[in-house]
Amino acid sequence: MVKLQKALHEHIHNLDDLVNERTAQLEKLLEEIRHLSATDGLTGCYNRRALQDKLPEEIERAQRYHRPLAVVFMDIDHFKQFNDQHGHQLGDEVLRSAAKHVAGTLRQGVDWIARYGGEEFVLVLPETPLEAAIAIAHRLCDALPEHAVPNPRGGSVYISASFGVTAYRPSEDALALLSRADTLVYQAKSAGRQQVVAGA
Ligand code: GH3
Ligand code: MG
Ligand code: MG
Repeated sequence: MVKLQKALHEHIHNLDDLVNERTAQLEKLLEEIRHLSATDGLTGCYNRRALQDKLPEEIERAQRYHRPLAVVFMDIDHFKQFNDQHGHQLGDEVLRSAAKHVAGTLRQGVDWIARYGGEEFVLVLPETPLEAAIAIAHRLCDALPEHAVPNPRGGSVYISASFGVTAYRPSEDALALLSRADTLVYQAKSAGRQQVVAGA
């Protein structure tokens, strides 16, 4: 009887271990799935879904603590033409490289970048007044055309981008903020591209 009890205890102990091990594996998998579902596969930036989740959180923080918050909408110029001229694969490489360059200029752990659409990125800059965001956009606008990507056929390729910069207005939602930034990019395109247009 005592022997049986001991065996039973041991069995239960082993089962507990197994459950703990499986739970840890599942938590790790879940974390991987969360990461994948928020990440753009090509560039490693946040994706649009993550932007839709995270931007309202930033807005809430800015609203609650009366802090500034700026967004920069960046749209690569004539990218369709780039693909037509150099091929989609090099286009992909340029998107990866541009995103990496932009991310490298941002404050780690504070600012973040999301791929909004094909060749469109949104930079979210918490604790940043409009003037500072405009300066960041100008720096990127100047640096991107100098940021070369090797062309497998020889030489290098370059791109430029147009920027819309705006700041959060109290009580507005993420959609209103983004659509104002989008309108400003559109103005930058109409004015000749490779430039920054800002509006409060
Ligand atoms: P504009 O200066 O007015 O922004 O012109 P544009 O050609 O950049 O803009 P348009 O919206 O006409 O075209 C965007 C192009 O971006 C079309 C598409 O071929 C390209 N694109 C979108 N996603 C990807 C992608 O993942 N990889 C590559 N290589 N190209 C992409
Ligand atoms: Mg576009
Ligand atoms: Mg474009």
